[in-house]
Amino acid sequence: MVEMAGIMFQDITTLLLDPKAFKDTVDLFVERYKGKNISVVAGIEARGFIFGTPIALEIGAKFVPLRKPNKLPGKVISEEYELEYGRDCLEMHLGAVEPGERALVVDDLIATGGTLCAAMKLLERAGAEVVECACVIELPDLKGRERLNGKPLYVLLESY
Ligand code: 5GP
Repeated sequence: MVEMAGIMFQDITTLLLDPKAFKDTVDLFVERYKGKNISVVAGIEARGFIFGTPIALEIGAKFVPLRKPNKLPGKVISEEYELEYGRDCLEMHLGAVEPGERALVVDDLIATGGTLCAAMKLLERAGAEVVECACVIELPDLKGRERLNGKPLYVLLESY
């Protein structure tokens, strides 16, 4: 955990400096999702890409990046969501996901749950079934889990 301008930030970059810890982290997700017929891993920009891509490769799923506005070159669908101060938006390439596909959403951390909620909406609008959301860290005090409309959330650690 690092402090930035008075805000405590859960920093996952120190985990990435330790190859064994990073691999163990990815392996925990792979063990859970291998053989579960998941065809799409959707990773949320930017830290969701770091964990989502190795999981996708190991479980034999495609990787779909969910990006901040105006980053993807093709046609997109967009989903806006509330932040503590203001709004943000996630975008996904049209056609990246087919109706009926089984999707896993990956990010590094869930705080208020707004980001994961928007990610799930994008996938569901494309006709996919979101099987679960997976994060390395949950901040349970912010009750983000309650915003996921009952969708299962799997986390490796809780930080209070
Ligand atoms: P939420 O939408 O759940 O409030 O916020 C989660 C999003 O913000 C995630 O994409 C996550 O990467 C980022 N985020 C918010 N707080 C932190 C933090 O303390 N550490 C990290 N690594 N990411 C954070």
